[in-house]
Amino acid sequence: MKLHEYEAKEIFKEYGIDVPKGFVTSNKIEKIEGPVVIKAQVLVGGRGKAGGVVFAHTVEEANRKIEKLLNSSIKGEKVEKVLVEEKLPVKKEYYLAIVVDRVEKKPLILFSTEGGVDIEEVARRNPEKIVKYYVDPLREFLPYMARVMLKDHGLPSQEIVKIADVIYKMYKLFREMDATLVEINPLVVTEDGRVVAADGVIHLDEDAYFRQDYTRFEEYRKRENLPFAYVELDGDIGVIGNGAGLTLASMDIIKEYGGNPACFLDIGGGASEDVVKKALEKVLERENIRGVFINIMAGITRCDEVARGIVEVLKNHPDVKVSVRMMGTREEEGRKILRENGIPLEDSIEKAAKKLIEMLEE
Ligand code: GDP
Ligand code: MN
Repeated sequence: MKLHEYEAKEIFKEYGIDVPKGFVTSNKIEKIEGPVVIKAQVLVGGRGKAGGVVFAHTVEEANRKIEKLLNSSIKGEKVEKVLVEEKLPVKKEYYLAIVVDRVEKKPLILFSTEGGVDIEEVARRNPEKIVKYYVDPLREFLPYMARVMLKDHGLPSQEIVKIADVIYKMYKLFREMDATLVEINPLVVTEDGRVVAADGVIHLDEDAYFRQDYTRFEEYRKRENLPFAYVELDGDIGVIGNGAGLTLASMDIIKEYGGNPACFLDIGGGASEDVVKKALEKVLERENIRGVFINIMAGITRCDEVARGIVEVLKNHPDVKVSVRMMGTREEEGRKILRENGIPLEDSIEKAAKKLIEMLEE
């Protein structure tokens, strides 16, 4: 589960890592104290390049930019909140992260003086610029270990002490919260010598739900309320099925015909019209969705319920391309409903997938 930047920074603060002064909001603001940076709170990387990080010097300018961001999407994700923070006087930008290395089966700390930019790019071009340190998960991680990791890379000694302190606190957070990723990019050294987390990414391990209380986080609460299983993916074709296996197979077949799934959505067994409705609405929430593939093998699920749910949602989305394959319980009634509403229905999974891809190519 991914945390928003403002949530990650709240946690950093709790662990004693310095973060910029600021607040999160969905509204206009009344005043600012000096220049600010305004940041879209969306769960995608590279917001800076996509226009999701902007600066303002007056309250009018800030409000104009806040309004613009709140009415926009960054990489297909609607902006519902922005973070307004003091603009840091940046002297240097470093990269810092802790990940789980699945091959070594250990936490891996990564540090680079080439911060702020795309770290994958640094890894490709200047791999020697990334310092790596594996932590023995069975032993205590001590502050001197972080200092050892940072020495011999040309950093001034005051910086080594301060950054090592951030690493120590990050690792404590990583372990205590069952994180799978903690990233600070950039970790900023300011003109006046502060070391501040200017950005923050935290991913939490969903297998740790049983021993953690993640209810304070936005994504957790959103997910808890969904009456189906939903995993967001990078593509632009929504995939809905009933049963995990069938939904995965549906994703495969979309890929096979040249499409790219935007999600895995399993409505489960016996889904009502209302669940189908919510599912399709969830898929269409994202603006980059070009089409939706719906694949249902009805046992305890009823085709007529599914069809009614689809029809209800498509009334509000007349332009979206949908292709359905549906069989089993109440198939005839379901087919009739779809036919009467002009929704394409095929009797095999291949035909339905092919049909959708063809419609999208037109
Ligand atoms: P990302 O693009 O989603 O990773 O968003 P970031 O929070 O990392 O912001 C993108 C870039 O904006 C950073 O790499 C910085 O160069 C710049 N930036 C962010 N906050 C500040 C700030 O307070 N002061 C200055 N001068 N630059 C900032
Ligand atoms: Mn960043």
